[in-house]
Order: sequence, then structure tokens, then C-alpha cells
Amino acid sequence: MEKQSIKEYMEMYCKMTYGKTVKHATTAEVWSALSTAIMSQIVDRWYVTNKAYKSQKMAFYISAEYLMGRALGNNLINLQEYDQVKDLLKELNINLNEVEEMEEDAALGNGGLGRLAACFMDSSATMHLPVQGYGLRYRNGLFKQCFKNGEQVEEADEWLKYGDPWSIRKEADMVYINFSDMKVKAIPYDVPIIGFGGATINTLRLWQAEPLCEFDFNLYNNQQYDKALEQKNRTEDITRVLYPNDSTEQGKLLRLRQQYFLVSASVQDMVRDFKRRHGNVFDDFAKWHAVQLNDTHPVLAIPEFIRILVDEEGESFEKALGTARKVFAYTNHTILQEALEKWDAYLMQKLFPRIYQIIEQIDAALVQELREKGYSDDRINMYHIIKEGKVHMAHMAIYVGFAINGVAKLHTEILKNTELHHWYELYPYKFQNKTNGITPRRWLVLANQELSSLITEKLGSNEWMMDLSLLKQLTKFVEDDEVLERLQSIKYTKKCQLAECIKAREGIEIDPNSLFDVQVKRLHEYKRQLLNAMYILDLYFRLKENPNLDIPKVTFIFGAKAFPGYYRAKSVIKLILAIGDLINRTPEVKDKIQVVFVTNYSVSYAERIIPAADLSKQISTAGKEASGTGNMKLMLNGAPTFGTYDGANVEIVAESGEENNFIFGLRVEDINNLRNNYNPKEYYDKSPDLKRVLDAFIDGTLDPANTGCFRDLYEALLVGKNWERPDQYYLLADFKAFKAMQDKVFECYKDRRKWAQMSLMNIANSGAFSSDRTIMQYASEIWGISPIS
Ligand SMILES: *Cc1c(COP(=O)(O)O)cnc(C)c1O
Repeated sequence: MEKQSIKEYMEMYCKMTYGKTVKHATTAEVWSALSTAIMSQIVDRWYVTNKAYKSQKMAFYISAEYLMGRALGNNLINLQEYDQVKDLLKELNINLNEVEEMEEDAALGNGGLGRLAACFMDSSATMHLPVQGYGLRYRNGLFKQCFKNGEQVEEADEWLKYGDPWSIRKEADMVYINFSDMKVKAIPYDVPIIGFGGATINTLRLWQAEPLCEFDFNLYNNQQYDKALEQKNRTEDITRVLYPNDSTEQGKLLRLRQQYFLVSASVQDMVRDFKRRHGNVFDDFAKWHAVQLNDTHPVLAIPEFIRILVDEEGESFEKALGTARKVFAYTNHTILQEALEKWDAYLMQKLFPRIYQIIEQIDAALVQELREKGYSDDRINMYHIIKEGKVHMAHMAIYVGFAINGVAKLHTEILKNTELHHWYELYPYKFQNKTNGITPRRWLVLANQELSSLITEKLGSNEWMMDLSLLKQLTKFVEDDEVLERLQSIKYTKKCQLAECIKAREGIEIDPNSLFDVQVKRLHEYKRQLLNAMYILDLYFRLKENPNLDIPKVTFIFGAKAFPGYYRAKSVIKLILAIGDLINRTPEVKDKIQVVFVTNYSVSYAERIIPAADLSKQISTAGKEASGTGNMKLMLNGAPTFGTYDGANVEIVAESGEENNFIFGLRVEDINNLRNNYNPKEYYDKSPDLKRVLDAFIDGTLDPANTGCFRDLYEALLVGKNWERPDQYYLLADFKAFKAMQDKVFECYKDRRKWAQMSLMNIANSGAFSSDRTIMQYASEIWGISPIS
């Protein structure tokens, strides 16, 4: 990269765009100028990669979510230009870190599923794999979280406020999307995905909805201004936010419209490209294209593909279905019933009747296949795609898809043996496991440059950045005092940096000499932030009774967004904030423990928190967390796992050793045995500590004004609400084991050398969790694609 040309480009850009020199530009303007200058340097290579990919089979990853985070720092790391650009800016009296901090996160996702898609993009480019992503360019991401009066408040997330230098609008590749009541344009914005080393640049194509016409001239002329813009607004609503509230029919229609918009644009794009290169005989389509459906959100791609082949290309339904059965594969991310999408048939009929007809035909083909196999009507009923007026998206994906994968070994076993057992009996050969992974570039090289340098120094090269299994060699330093001390000192540095960041963003001071106990992830009952909170409340009571309790000073760090309509999740946030306040008000406790709930947990916040964590809390109810990827990021940064036998925790412990982690609580089998005679009230009656904690929810301890705001949580645990069983996620059953294990943590933490050894063993054994490994498995075992040379 040419330093001089970057500088010249930035000068020119600032003059042309802002009418000033770089010297007078704001930090946001510098960010935009620098990002655009980098784009100018990669466009040629991007073009070359695109061209090279067209000569072989490609995979297309369709996902409603991409949780990309910031682009600038990551792109500089992947270009291996980070230090050079830092120096270049220094010559201009600009601090690169400040410029990076200006960038808004591209938060086009909700949590792990969206971050996985982002890590897969990075790994595909790094591994030189011909993979393209398809997604939506939401004008506003999920939402921005703040706390007001001790509660979560949502605001619009304006990630585009400083512009979008990291995409190119491809007007010429526009397609039209037809709904029964409207026709709209889908305009692609292409985002470059720079592989590590910078030689390969893949594409993430994000679609934006736009109206056919900006406004109705005649209505406007008649001074009906709102009406003149109605069509434009209705169209732009389609890609305004991720997961619009679907509590009403209007909301459901909008979500369904959004899903169809994504898949129709993407499938039309693929078919158009296929025809350009291979003509209009679709027999070979599957030789050139594999399509991965990330969860059920893009499953309408299947009937849309069939519709195009039948209605526009004149193929028979049977033939089109046969082709679809070689093209699509589906990833299952959850067994939670509420997350397995089932859409009302009448909504589909209303928005796209032709697509619904095709789904009926697919269902009929499935039934015929099962009849031929001799299945009874009762049995066939378990497989139906359309059942009781609802369309089961997962059923359609499994029937038509040629592969279905779970995202961790345990999760895939649960799919095969219980949740999808009947499908596994029908198509055992379709089921595969692909344990999730994370990109070491963002989660170590970028987020923890100090630890990266130490690793490179000790391993003698930076090859590990592209082959994370090389970290295994670090195990030879497990008795090396110099390495162990440097590990501790790096952790301390990262804790100081986080403390500064929390001071700046939250106005809260935390002590970098305390143990940082971290639970960061979406707020959901199954993830059991509430169990962690109950433990902290118990510890509060113990410290009040005995201020000399022998524990290290601890800072409990939480980060989580609650979905806006998820009332109980919001109550949990409120409860944790209340516990934090209670502790701050109690002199004999507040110097021992502190609770911080950071606002607006995001990728860029995760990059600060994770390297600073001493302990990784992964405490989901066994069987509920399909994989988890936060657990992997924390492991890679040297935090032992405090967790249940769930999701990828099982594999993390198998790699790094039970003795280097803190595993507690009920396992899947235990829960299955307990399920039918579980009575949480018994635990409450028998354990005074648990009783004291739960009573504090309702006796005014946490709610001095006695508003009763935590009564719902209390009742959900002890008596059950709205036909739910009490304590559906087994918090009370796991409380005792949690407490015993946390005591063990405190005991272990006293021996800092031992702790550093556990940390080292986690880092050294995290190689299996690189998304490079995961994506290579998708490539060879599902898609049948290989790296370009
Ligand atoms: C990795 C990540 C997640 C997923 O965390 P889990 O603990 O696996 O649920 C969610 N949000 C962000 C911002 C992340 O970076």
C-alpha cells in the first residue's frame, strides 16, 4: 500500500466532500476519508477475485442477520496494514484509535447467529473460498439500548449517520420484487470482505428496498403530501429494521414481506447470473451453486426458486423441485419451539399466493414420497409442511434441503435423537454436525494485539493467524514463569483498558485489580442471567452477615440486550441493575463486589470486554444453547469457562481439560429425568439461602418503592404463570451447584500462577474453534466447493 497515495486520496476526498483539508476535518470525516482511500486501493483486487470465482462452483450464504461490527480496524488487520496506517496518520497528527472509535457498528444482527454469519464471511475470504453472502441492508439495525430509571429503553440505531464508505451501490444489478399488493425495487449494496493477507476479497451483497417512483406527482400537486409519499414509506419499511415487532398482523405481514424480499432478490440474482454464464438449461444449476439457508428466515428461497424455474423458465414442477433438492442446505440454530418459525398460511396467501401454491405442491410431493414408503396417515402428519393452517418452515427446509446441520456436537445429537428424530429416521444421510467457530483475526489479532504479539513472539511467526491449531504449541510454556507472568500482565493491561472504556461510556469506575466475572450475550431466560443474579444477591447477603468472608474482590460484568417485546427479559435487566444499586448503597459490601451492566452490548463492546475477562460465564440450561460462540471468544482470550454441559461448552472442555474450567450443574439427561416431577418450591422450602434471595424480589429489598415489579419473576420461578410450569429453566435446581463452583473459582483465583496456567491451556487449545475450520467443513462436506489458487 502506498502511503503517499493514501494521504493524497484523503486530502482530495476531504476537499471534494467536505470542502476542507484533512487538517481541519472532524474525526468522523477522517474516518470516511481514510475508509474510502482504503477502498480505492482494494477495488482492483476485489474485481479479480470476483472474476476468478465465476469459473467454478460457488456457495451462497443467505442470512437475515450479519452482525459485522466495525469495518476499518478489521480491514486494516486483514490487509496487514494496521501499523503502517497508524504511522501514516501519526504524521498527520491523527490517532488511529480515535478514528476507529468514531465508527458506528454495523449491527445488522441480533446475536450469535448474525455474528456467526459475519465470522463465516471473514473465514471464507481468508480460506480463498468462493462464497458470497446475501442479506438485507437495514437502514437501522436492531436498536440502540440505554438505561433510564433502571430500565432498558430502546432508540433507533443510526449506523449510517456518517455515511457508508464500505459498500458500493450496484444500481445496474437491481431486481424487481412482486407482492400481491405492491411491486418494489431491490438495490444491491456490495460490501468487500477482505481475506487475511488481502489477496482475496469476497462479497457480501445487501439488498435495500426502494420504491418504483419517489413520490406520486399528481397527489403531490393536489397538495396531498402524506399520501404522495405513502408508497415510498411502505416500501422503505421493508428494510427499515431487523425483526420488526410482530405482535400484530401488520407486523407479521411486514416480517414476512421482508423475508420474501431477501430471498426473491437473492434467488433472482443467482438465476440471472447462471443464465448469463451457462444459458437457460437448469439441469446443471447444482453443479455451479450451493445455497446455505442460515436458520429458517430465508427458507422461502426454496419455493421462490421453484417459482422462477416453473413460471419464468418453463420447467415442470417436478423437475424444478428435483433441482432445488440438490441446491439448498439448511442450518438449524435452535430447538426452542418459539424460535422455530411457523407462519399463518393465510398471511402467505395474502402476500404471495403463487408462493403459497408452490408450498402446497411441495407438501403434496412430500406426502406422496411418504405414502410410497408405506407410512401411515398418522405418521405422515408429523412431517407435513402445512399443518393446521400453518406453514412449518423447518419442515420445508429439511424435506427439500440435501443437508441439514446442527451447530455443535451435542446440539446435532439432540436434533437426531429427539427434536427431529422422525426426520432423522427418514433421511439419516442428510444430518451433519458443523460446530460453530469464530474468526481469530477480529477476536484476537484486532481485539487483543498485546496477546497476539506475545503468541507470535513465542511461536516464532504469525502463521497461527491462519492456522489456529498451531496454538497447541503454547502448551509447552505451561511451566514457563516468564510466559505466565507476561500473560498476567497482558490481562491486567486489557482490564485497565476496559476500566477506562467503562468510565468513559458508562461513567462508572471499576477496579482492574478485581476478578472480572463476565456474562455477555443476548438476554434470554434460557441463558439464565437470572441465575447469575441470584448468586450475586446471595453473595451480597453473605457479605452483609460476614464482611470478612474470604473472597477476592469481584466485578460482575453483564452486557445484554432484551428484545423489545420480551417483557420478562427486560425485568431481568431491571433486577440486575437493582442489585447493583443495592450493593452500591451498602458500605460493608460495596468494596468487595460490584455489578456493572454495560449499555448497548455490541461487537465493538465485545472486543473490549472479552480480552479483559478473567472468567467466562456460560450457564444456559443444559440442552438449550445450541452452540454459543461467545464462549469460544472468551476461551481464545484466556478466560476459563464457568459453565454447564451445554452447546459447545462440552467441546471446549474436551479440548482444554475439565481441570482448566469450572463445569457444574444438571446435564441434559438429568433434566430429562427431572422434568416430569420437578417442583422448584421444594428447593425454596429446603434452602434458606435460596428463600432469602427470592423473597428479596418481593419484600422491598430490591424494590424500595414496593411497585411489585419483580413479582412476575418470583412467580415464574415458584408457581408458574400463564400455563407455564414454574422455573422452566431449572434455576433453582442448579443454584446449589452454581454456588459451590463459584466458591471453587474464588479459591483457585488466589493462586495467580495456577490461574495463568489455566488461562494458557484455554488459549492453547482453542484452535478447534476457528471459523476457518468450520467453513472448510461446510465447503467440503456440504457445498462441494474448494479454494481457488
Ligand atoms: C459473539 C457474540 C454474541 C454471541 O454470544 P453467545 O454468548 O454465544 O450467545 C452475541 N452478541 C455479540 C455482540 C457477539 O459478539
